[in-house]
Amino acid sequence: MLSERGFIDHVRRRAAAGSPELLRSIGDDCAVFAPPAGRHLLVTTDTLVERVHFDLGWHPPELLGRKAAAVNLSDIAAMGGGPLYALLSLAAPAGTDEGWLDRVMTGFLTVLAEHDTILIGGDTVRGEQVVISVTLIGDAAPDRILYRSGARKGDLVWVSGQLGEAAAGLELCRRGDESRWPELVRAHLDPRPRMALGRFLAETGTVHAMMDLSDGLATDLAHLCRESGLGAEVEAASLPLSPALQEAAAHLGRAPGELALTGGEDYELLFATGPEATETLPLQVQEATGLEIHRVGRLTAGSGVWLLDGITRREIGDRGYDHFAR
Ligand code: ADP
Ligand code: MG
Repeated sequence: MLSERGFIDHVRRRAAAGSPELLRSIGDDCAVFAPPAGRHLLVTTDTLVERVHFDLGWHPPELLGRKAAAVNLSDIAAMGGGPLYALLSLAAPAGTDEGWLDRVMTGFLTVLAEHDTILIGGDTVRGEQVVISVTLIGDAAPDRILYRSGARKGDLVWVSGQLGEAAAGLELCRRGDESRWPELVRAHLDPRPRMALGRFLAETGTVHAMMDLSDGLATDLAHLCRESGLGAEVEAASLPLSPALQEAAAHLGRAPGELALTGGEDYELLFATGPEATETLPLQVQEATGLEIHRVGRLTAGSGVWLLDGITRREIGDRGYDHFAR
């Protein structure tokens, strides 16, 4: 295995060149940068732990590196901001293969480069299992930041993309059944952060609240509702379920709607707009980003997330992935 020093030198050589605002990067005790004038800074961190968030048996190292970057970028997108700098803390057991680590770095740095983000530091330690912790620093115009707390009664609830794909993909990986629905497996292994969409939505002025979907629509919408002091109704018939998801769900013996509501790691955006947005927004988004958005419900007075399914109405909040649940 590469020494810690050797690895840091290697990472330093591979990290992208700086910008005039970046005064010191990898190599000192701290990185130093000048904050962009007139902007607010956004800071987020997310950790991937071996056997909790990924399995080395089926997660190729390049895709693991990509995912470590993507899940953090997704949080920046969710605020309507853009990324600037990244920090990477890496724990790996003694004897970890150098080539394997290098491939993780390749994936990680590729995604950073795709989003003009510079690796400015981190930490490299020995651990019992692989842990990849990323901190991302981004920025946004102060009056364009979208919080979870901004939704209003009567707002429409929207999601981007299709739901439940990553959860289905994970289940297929677990069963060693990866070949039939590659798009679902890809959604789990290599999620794409919705950067352009987040920024576009922040610019429209019609979005009141936004977050990304990491723990499933039921749980994440419950968070948005709580922060906004509202309840929500979701129409089961309006959940975007791809044909692949429906086929795979049947194969897995799972209800597709349940995967869509409680499956984690979609990394799509969940947002609320005023009721006037209905007609034009999907087309505008399609033209600007090539992505689909779907209206799935609305915000109400009261509390809780309620699923409307035909004539039934039942509460579904907080049923997604809970890291501390057993
Ligand atoms: P210190 O002990 O002062 O924290 P380190 O020896 O841990 O410094 O790190 C030396 C430099 O290398 C620092 O600039 C740090 O940010 C950077 N660094 C260490 N590990 C990583 C990593 N995995 N990715 C990027 N930069 C790293
Ligand atoms: Mg250190």
